[in-house]
Amino acid sequence: MTTRIKHLYLHVPFCRSICYYCDFAHRVFDRKLADRWLGRVEEEISRECHDDYETIYIGGGTPTALSSVQSDTLLNMLDPFSSNVIEYTIEVNPESLDEEKIGIYKKHHINRISMGIQSSDDEILRSLNRKHTFQDVKDKIAMLRDNGFENISGDLMYSLPGQDLEILDKTIDDILSLDLEHISLYSLTIEENSVFGKKGVKALDEDTEAEMYERIEKRLTAAGYIHYEVSNYAKKGRESKHNLSYWNYEDFLGISIGAASKIGDRRYTNTRSFERYFKDLDDKDEDLVLSKDDREFEHLMMSLRTIYGLDIGEFNRIYGEDLLKKYEKGVRNPAIRIENGRLICKDLEILNHVLLDFML
Ligand code: SF4
Repeated sequence: MTTRIKHLYLHVPFCRSICYYCDFAHRVFDRKLADRWLGRVEEEISRECHDDYETIYIGGGTPTALSSVQSDTLLNMLDPFSSNVIEYTIEVNPESLDEEKIGIYKKHHINRISMGIQSSDDEILRSLNRKHTFQDVKDKIAMLRDNGFENISGDLMYSLPGQDLEILDKTIDDILSLDLEHISLYSLTIEENSVFGKKGVKALDEDTEAEMYERIEKRLTAAGYIHYEVSNYAKKGRESKHNLSYWNYEDFLGISIGAASKIGDRRYTNTRSFERYFKDLDDKDEDLVLSKDDREFEHLMMSLRTIYGLDIGEFNRIYGEDLLKKYEKGVRNPAIRIENGRLICKDLEILNHVLLDFML
């Protein structure tokens, strides 16, 4: 018997330009290559997708890097699997989003937008090789609102070179003025294969990073956002349902280059190489069968990332365990509390330290 998978992720591996901090699986957009990729994705979808998904998330890369015709073609492929979708998200970049693409998203019932904003400081945006200004962000959000989009998330970066607390405060003011339903935070990490990594750019020191994290937390919660996951904030009822499925350790299917899947005890990642993806859909960069101990720990680790924590009874049922006994040391950590049958970490900022006590 196969279990129904409720969550689908599809990776669009193209960007119009490459941000200096990024090492995702992507290429600079090329129309012909994107057409070829679409053909392969169609094959993968018809082979792998069998369910009516509750959440679909199209990420990247930059989905808006595709032309309008290509966007429509891609979304047509997903239509048979989206008739009962509750949350259907697409990531957008203000630089390549326009009325025509917004119309196509509406036609295919996309109901959630995740926009890469990063900063409201145009000089910082330029230093990251972002090709938009904050005015573009405001214009595109207004365009989305005019077209009836009621659920918009924005990405915000901190700990950036050249960013101090004053610049960060101004960015928070500007982000709050957008009145978004959801905000995701990213602190800059210097990836070896990114342009910053190759240039030897250094991240800000840990104390400044922690100070910025705390400043954002204080200001967003004061503005009414719920800090529901380590790096995510939402207005009430606007938490990302798709991302909650990852944190609740549910199964999900990933389609396209570099996409990860978790199905039962198997976790695998499609190849990040275009050439290998075009040659063989079974080519994986990682393909693991997780042991019961590994799954238990991952389940715990992911669930503790949110303020809703882990359902102890459900965990015990799934794994045939007594969680409180097996992870006695972790449960005794002062940052852990048990409330209504759930195991919760009270201080998400120190979660990584808390988890050390859960390691067997
Ligand atoms: S951050 Fe986003 S837009 Fe920039 S290069 Fe990476 S995937 Fe592309």
